[in-house]
Amino acid sequence: MRVEEFDVLIVGAGLSGLRAGLELSKKWNVAVISKVYPVRSHSGAAQGGINAALGNLEEGKGDTPKSHAFDTVKGSDYLADQDVVMFMCEEAPKIVVEFESMGAPFSRLESGLIAQRPFGGAGFPRTCYAGDRTGHALLQTLNEQSVHNDVTFFDEFFLIDLFKVDGNITGLIALDIAEGEIVSFRAPYVILATGGFGRIFKYSTNAVINTGDGVGAAFRIGIPMQDVEFVQFHPTTLYGTNILMTEGARGEGGYLFNIDGKRFMEKTAPKAMELAPRDIVARAIETEVIGGRGFENAYVHLDLTHLGAERIKERLPGIRDISIYFAGVDPIETPIPVQAGQHYSMGGIGTKFDGDYGETDLTGLYTIGECSCLSVHGANRLGGNSLLETAVFGRYLGRKLIEKGLPTKKPSNDIKKAEEKAIDNVEILLKTWNENTGKKPVEIRNEMGEALNRNVGVYRTNNDLEKANNILPKLQKEFLNTQISTEDRRFNYGLIRTLELRSMLDIAEATAYASLWRKESRGAHFRTDYPTRHDEEYLVHSMIYRSKDGLEIKTKPVKLGIFEVKERKY
Ligand SMILES: Cc1cc2nc3c(=O)[nH]c(=O)nc-3n(C[C@H](O)[C@H](O)[C@H](O)COP(=O)(O)OP(=O)(O)OC[C@H]3O[C@@H](n4cnc5c(N)ncnc54)[C@H](O)[C@@H]3O)c2cc1C
Repeated sequence: MRVEEFDVLIVGAGLSGLRAGLELSKKWNVAVISKVYPVRSHSGAAQGGINAALGNLEEGKGDTPKSHAFDTVKGSDYLADQDVVMFMCEEAPKIVVEFESMGAPFSRLESGLIAQRPFGGAGFPRTCYAGDRTGHALLQTLNEQSVHNDVTFFDEFFLIDLFKVDGNITGLIALDIAEGEIVSFRAPYVILATGGFGRIFKYSTNAVINTGDGVGAAFRIGIPMQDVEFVQFHPTTLYGTNILMTEGARGEGGYLFNIDGKRFMEKTAPKAMELAPRDIVARAIETEVIGGRGFENAYVHLDLTHLGAERIKERLPGIRDISIYFAGVDPIETPIPVQAGQHYSMGGIGTKFDGDYGETDLTGLYTIGECSCLSVHGANRLGGNSLLETAVFGRYLGRKLIEKGLPTKKPSNDIKKAEEKAIDNVEILLKTWNENTGKKPVEIRNEMGEALNRNVGVYRTNNDLEKANNILPKLQKEFLNTQISTEDRRFNYGLIRTLELRSMLDIAEATAYASLWRKESRGAHFRTDYPTRHDEEYLVHSMIYRSKDGLEIKTKPVKLGIFEVKERKY
């Protein structure tokens, strides 16, 4: 068996993994493991921008990190941990300037300063952007820096499971996708940066690779999932395809219209209008459609026609291309048909209440980026804060671990035993899948996606949530008997999809479970049977564990104390 040893293993080569790798590689022997080539990571799909209180526009002059933090906490419906948010917002200007100095091609103002645009829920225009391809620009920049700094990459290696010795992480096992070989990676520090898991839903803006493999691996080794009931539905995804139409389109001045030609946002957010936070705009769109005021009972219009051809071509070229190719609509002349769609996971791998940001309850195991729940987004993320989170906490964690130093290694015999056990378990699993006679993984995956889309959507009811809570455990059982050929493991994407489904089912089940448990409406979690926020009981993070009797929920306090908890109005 092939064994690799490093000081730190980072799983994920999106913005968070790359930024941590860059920092750590200055001192230590670091490996970045990724199931796709780094520049194909989903960070590259980010469109609208990254937030920082730079105050580069005249209207943004009064902006400060504290205003940024306030908007973020209010946007989160007060569930975000306020100290972590404050840290992120204070780091934001430094992170954007650092990206600039690494060569990231930000759009510019006439003055030469980095351009900024308004985004939902923000009191000032603070979203820095590179046209509508910001993620692509930032990912290429960090990748170039990583190559320049000789970070060791294991591209097309798939994390299967983690292993530990006495409450300490000691490594992971991965599948070399090309060779079909199972490889053991040992290290006293492991950072999970495996991105979002939107694909547990059937319809999503996420790439097919966003399947929550890191969340699943952490869960299987005993780390809880935190706040997974909070699923962000982006208000404007292209009707029928759910491809993202960036919030930047509304930031540039786009309007939303219903079939009566009304800007319906005036009903729910008379001040902020189209630039209210995403949870509010998504619900407003659903309300129009459910109320019969949508087009074809399915979508509303995102109208950019008044912005003019020049501005659309300069600031939103990707949106225009996508609309033309996928909907046959040129936004210069015709409004874009949009509907709300799954977009982002506010919850993720549970972190310690007190500890370093991103630290889990397993010593040496850390998490950053969208797979983690640190929690800076609480119950609803503001657009532009996720790219920020990835780089801020990637850099922070790199520096923090170097400051801590390398821990003493566990005895190699113990590591070997733990590693062999993990490999044996996987071998048994693959053999079982090969011999099984049950449903194909794709059938189970489709049913899981449908169950979530139908029952755990923008508006949630007790009945629907109970349905999801019946279907998902049943699918878990069926998965035990799923069949797939595992004999030839080279480039076996059937096998990869099945390994992904193993984690997705756990996350889907936990999402439905936590959504039924939270009997209130907060941020993106809206229960028609409990339509108001209930701070006395639910101003807490949910932590889902698996016990031998099934799923179980514990709670963790929210870190408050900087901003007063209030009602949200926009
Ligand atoms: C369409 C779209 C547009 C967006 N636009 C914006 C925006 O404008 N502004 C903003 O702030 N946010 C935006 N977001 C959100 C933001 O892009 C993401 O949250 C963020 O980029 C996630 O970065 P990450 O480093 O956590 O993970 P990712 O970039 O998703 O990277 C995950 C990495 O993990 C690896 N990985 C996963 N599983 C395994 C495994 N089993 N084994 C090995 N490797 C694995 C993958 O290969 C990949 O390298 C957008 C999201 C979407 C979907």
